[in-house]
Amino acid sequence: MDCIFCKIVKGEAPAKKVYENEKVLAFLTIGPISRGHLLVIPKKHFENIFDIDEDYLKEIIFATKKISQKLKKNLKADGVNILHASGKDAQQSVFHFHLHLVPRYKNDGIDTWPKSNYQELNFEEVTNKIKE
Ligand code: ZN
Repeated sequence: MDCIFCKIVKGEAPAKKVYENEKVLAFLTIGPISRGHLLVIPKKHFENIFDIDEDYLKEIIFATKKISQKLKKNLKADGVNILHASGKDAQQSVFHFHLHLVPRYKNDGIDTWPKSNYQELNFEEVTNKIKE
């Protein structure tokens, strides 16, 4: 398996690491959209939200909170977006689970919220389908 994030975990590919514990690693992305944009990943390979182990997921969320607080305190971020894609059709491009932490700064002009013309015609049906 040729996974760039697994290579980073093993130290076989370089990365600017900003946080690490037994289960989690966080490092700066090579394609940042804001100052401090980073990725939080499990040290074990999981593809996405559909297969990730819950203990790893918990650790990722805890780490995400800690790192977000550091972005606010140390980089003076005014806010943070936490972005994630699971599945090719959801625009996942690296198939090793990861959360994007995008620090946001007042008037940074970035718009991370998707635009869509979709209109839901049957909220009742969708609600019931998801609950099945
Ligand atoms: Zn991997």
